[in-house]
Amino acid sequence: MHFLPSGRLKRSLRKQVILFGISVLLPALVLFVLIIRLNRQDNELRKKRAGEAQQQKAEEIGKHLAEKLEKTENIILQELASDFGNGQNAYRTHHELVFVGSIINDKLVMPWEEAEIQKLPSKAKSSRELILQAQKAEFEKNDLKLAESLLNRALSSEDSSLKKCFIQVQKGRILTKLGDGEEAKHLYLKILAQPGGLTDEYGIPFSLYAAERLSVLDSEVKPILDRLEGLMGEIRWLPSSALYFIQDITAQVQEKSQDPDLLGRMANLRQSTENALENLGRLESLKGYVSSWMLRRRSLNQSGDPINWEAHGDIPWIVGIRELNEGQSQVLLAFHGPGVLSTSIEESGLANTFPGICRITASPLGEGFLPGGSFEGFRVQFEETDASAWSKSSLPFPILYWSILILVIGFTAFGGYLLWRDIGRELAIAEMRSQFAASVSHELKTPLTSIRMFAEALTMGVKKHPEAQKEYLQTIISESERLSRLLNNVLDFSKIEQGTRTYRFEPTSLEEIIHDAEEAMAFPMDQKGFDLQVEVEEGIPEILADRDALEQAVLNLLHNAMKYSGESRDIKLKLHRNGDLASIDVTDYGIGIVKEDRDRIFGKFFRVQGVENQKIPGTGLGLTIVSHIAESHGGKVEVKSQPGEGSTFSLILPLEAK
Ligand code: ADP
Repeated sequence: MHFLPSGRLKRSLRKQVILFGISVLLPALVLFVLIIRLNRQDNELRKKRAGEAQQQKAEEIGKHLAEKLEKTENIILQELASDFGNGQNAYRTHHELVFVGSIINDKLVMPWEEAEIQKLPSKAKSSRELILQAQKAEFEKNDLKLAESLLNRALSSEDSSLKKCFIQVQKGRILTKLGDGEEAKHLYLKILAQPGGLTDEYGIPFSLYAAERLSVLDSEVKPILDRLEGLMGEIRWLPSSALYFIQDITAQVQEKSQDPDLLGRMANLRQSTENALENLGRLESLKGYVSSWMLRRRSLNQSGDPINWEAHGDIPWIVGIRELNEGQSQVLLAFHGPGVLSTSIEESGLANTFPGICRITASPLGEGFLPGGSFEGFRVQFEETDASAWSKSSLPFPILYWSILILVIGFTAFGGYLLWRDIGRELAIAEMRSQFAASVSHELKTPLTSIRMFAEALTMGVKKHPEAQKEYLQTIISESERLSRLLNNVLDFSKIEQGTRTYRFEPTSLEEIIHDAEEAMAFPMDQKGFDLQVEVEEGIPEILADRDALEQAVLNLLHNAMKYSGESRDIKLKLHRNGDLASIDVTDYGIGIVKEDRDRIFGKFFRVQGVENQKIPGTGLGLTIVSHIAESHGGKVEVKSQPGEGSTFSLILPLEAK
């Protein structure tokens, strides 16, 4: 037997912890760091690849966009070249076309300015004269009748519908002044129906003048509103003065109307004029850029690298400047960027080739990707930018790495737990061992003292009392038996620990063992006033066993029964057969064992912790040896117990045993 001093034990435990750290924790930590690093590198690589994939997709999208724009542009340019008018037709057929207009002397001409240029020269000189005379009659001579007849003459001599409109507006005014309201209304309704393209030199359609007059003349609201809505839909670009005019007329008729339906339409009309004004602002700002673009175009054209499309504005518009009629004139085309982008993506079949949706912005330095060389100042942005949506991991199975990581952490934690549990056990055993050393010395001392005391008494002469002499001698024998049992237990335990305990098996009668044990216990039991009842079932065959070992086991159980009997003085020893098994039961009616301790009492050095139990001497080895002996015979020890009522230990052995 050897005991570890606690200092050495602690050092050895510390060594175990350090070893665990080096052999398990350190490699686990290294693996952990490696996996984390690998994963981070993979993420960076994926981000880079995703960026490349997005750039590639942006260029692909840009290519299709450029193709679509080129096709549309060619059609529009052809229409313009064959003089289909000022592009109003193009707006109708190409919904994404925002603006088309001429560039003259490096300046963008607004649609109404163009109208002015085309329409100012009047063919019918005579009608101009007549109009001037009529104005003189109206304003200077105040001769309204004369003015009316002059205008009637002008009307009949004029065949341009534009001029006719102009004259009719004047005539309407004179009719109103003459008090012929109905006639005037009639005339204004006629002008109201005229196409929106018929405008004065400021780009304001004559029908708007008529609408304004009608709104004052208490005419019906609905036809005015119909016409205003018609104008907004018909003419792509109205000058701001016309838009404000529409807003004013709407406000005027709004005062007269109660109809919720009409009021709703007025609100919509107001909103669309607001939007048109906002767009007009964009167009004005575009106009500001045109001359600098023209300059740049010229220098780039010399270097042979024309820019096809430029970005403009918040939406943005895709703007291109093109030659018309073999370079004689220039036009500017502006398309609604997001609109063309989405139709081009749809038409090219690219819609499902990337995750999420994509946007086009006019921010050359902003986020996103350049959609190829044809576009200047544009960026294509993807809504879904998560790297995993764009590129695959280069690690074969990212899940594998994470599983390894989790396993490593799991195993390390489990190892740590086992070590912690082991250390706890070691400490508990070390504690029990030190208790054991104290109890062994104590147990040795008690029988030695009595042997010595009774031997001395014998030498001092108790010869005259043969009864006392016999009792002294018996006590000496019983105490020395107790001593040798204790030493046997310690020696056996030591052998069990070292694995050198051997058994000598020979045919053995269990009945004889019971009787020998009964005999051995007779004196000590008698001395302490115990009543041992022995019950033996007949006919139990001999078994192959180590007789001394079995007797030692039974004696251990009987001694325990005595020690833990408390006040009770009855003990039962019973041998009986149970099928193929023989059972030796030792029953006492003493202190019993609580449930939690019933399995632990067979562990080495274990002693139940309790005030009552602590007073009873013991080493905690008795039951360990009993259970070893039982197992070596192919059997087991069972315990049934009730605290306060007693316990029954059964040594169960197979009858066919070795
Ligand atoms: P000990 O030398 O302490 O008796 P054992 O291994 O024989 O060692 O027993 C272990 C513990 O089991 C004892 O300390 C005691 O608490 C409990 N024990 C054993 N036998 C009995 C019994 N018959 N009644 C109650 N408790 C018992």
